[in-house]
Amino acid sequence: MMNPEGCTRCRLSETRRHVLRGEGNMHADVMLIAQAPGRMEDSENRMFIGPSGRMLDRLMACGNIRRDEIYMTNLVKCTLPGNRKPKQREIDACSVYLESEIDEIAPKWLVPLGYYATKYLFARYGLPPFTRAGFSALVGRVFSAGGRTLFPASHPAFLLFHPEAAAGVEEHFKKIGSIVRHGTDTAFS
Ligand code: SF4
Repeated sequence: MMNPEGCTRCRLSETRRHVLRGEGNMHADVMLIAQAPGRMEDSENRMFIGPSGRMLDRLMACGNIRRDEIYMTNLVKCTLPGNRKPKQREIDACSVYLESEIDEIAPKWLVPLGYYATKYLFARYGLPPFTRAGFSALVGRVFSAGGRTLFPASHPAFLLFHPEAAAGVEEHFKKIGSIVRHGTDTAFS
């Protein structure tokens, strides 16, 4: 697996403290792919430890999922200044690391969290493009392409600003929990 440590492939290298590597079970069937490390994650060099991480832990508890049962990584490995959106050239530059993780871990299920990770994977696997407004219609649905199965879900940070959406996102994590334990979810069949 390619190691992004010390990477200077894009200008995010100038503003980060740490390059975050993915973490979790190297034999996992399920890979969660978030957008980028937040401020706390950049400071402590750990995945999902800030406010989004606490939300993720709550959602994982809903799905009865332990962190060591899955593999978690980011689309972009360095933090985005001011939590801004990733630029396409940054995603392009960083994608070699994500592709290397997917190749090595070979998860059956890819779970992109949020718009940008889903947009990247849809393009990567030849699925139809969609607009930002169209993303909400994709979450919680199953897509198969290129030998992978994709299950787009909302990013935990979304719930920090939209707590009213909690019930729907919790249902998606219950399905992810079922995938982790049984390889699929009876709700899909
Ligand atoms: S975001 Fe990715 S490509 Fe850019 S410097 Fe960090 S590791 Fe390298």
